[in-house]
Amino acid sequence: NNTFDILIVGGGPIGLACGLEAEKAGLSYQIIEKGTITNSLFNYPLNMTFFSTADRLEIGGFPFPSIHPKPNRSEALEYYRRVADIGQLNILLFEEVTGISREGALYLTSTSKGNYQSRYVILATGFYDIPNLLAIPGEDLPKVRHYYYDPHYYYKQKVLVVGANNSSADVALETWRKGAEVTMVVRESELGRIKYWIKPDLENRIAEGSIKAYFNSKLTEIREQEVDIQTPEGKVTIPNDFVMAMTGYQPNFAFLEKVGVKLSDDFYRHPYHNPETMETNLPGLYLAGVVCGGMETHVWFIENSREHAVKIVQDILKK
Ligand code: FAD
Repeated sequence: NNTFDILIVGGGPIGLACGLEAEKAGLSYQIIEKGTITNSLFNYPLNMTFFSTADRLEIGGFPFPSIHPKPNRSEALEYYRRVADIGQLNILLFEEVTGISREGALYLTSTSKGNYQSRYVILATGFYDIPNLLAIPGEDLPKVRHYYYDPHYYYKQKVLVVGANNSSADVALETWRKGAEVTMVVRESELGRIKYWIKPDLENRIAEGSIKAYFNSKLTEIREQEVDIQTPEGKVTIPNDFVMAMTGYQPNFAFLEKVGVKLSDDFYRHPYHNPETMETNLPGLYLAGVVCGGMETHVWFIENSREHAVKIVQDILKK
């Protein structure tokens, strides 16, 4: 039977939370995830530590025991997979949702593997699949990376890190500690949003000259063995092996627009939703999780968006 009360697109922490709420409310539901379970977390840097404490990453009331104040990637993967298992969540993996349309009272969802009908749809598709591009010559070279995994790979390499937020700080410090020669290019005059216990480490490495940082500067061209940086003192060309463009990510706006969700006209492209119910301009179609922030991807995280699941299911029960 391919007909459900709720179809949930995305098997990240918040998609899972929506499934658990639906289950509690006795509603039938199906979660459809295009990758592995919690695919975004799976693609995080190998040694990544959450900025949230374990209790704030919990969903569905399942405890997340961790002996460290802040869990790491492996612990989080373990937690969400076990929750899905114990909660007996209905989740289909490696199946991509390609279209959603309205047919009478129902939504028709088509995927890479089949078709589904549901009275309600929740989009919990996150933002980690599409990087913000630099739009400069050479960005398409294979040495340019928008995702970072393991510092070991960069041993004895000349690494240029673009950006000055959490991801950039982690890449710069980790690769430097594993023997890379690290340079940072920062558009602003100072470092950005960085975990409070990481920031002094990076500041000190920059102050002592272990990591070179160009502030108020812009990467302008990438070539096989060097890069050009526009600095306040003029153009600088330095030798380079890898460019780590940690310039953030964005929700799949094309998908949202195709489905019919309205986006704000400004730079942020906030997908329209009623903050009380999370319902979009399409009746019965909801948004949950970090997708809600549009280009402002730092506004929502697990701790403040897991409650979307509760709001949505309450609204559905009222209907
Ligand atoms: P996601 O986890 O991104 O889940 C969305 C899911 O939808 C993905 O699995 C994706 O594959 C799937 N999907 C997308 N499109 C489709 C489609 N068409 N069909 C089927 N499936 C689809 N948050 C915190 O709360 N604490 C932290 O410490 C923290 N650290 C972070 C560190 C990094 C490096 C990054 C990038 C983010 C971090 N975040 C953190 C933010 C974090 O990613 C989110 O809070 C969390 O993943 C949000 O969950 P979500 O379910 O909304 O989105």
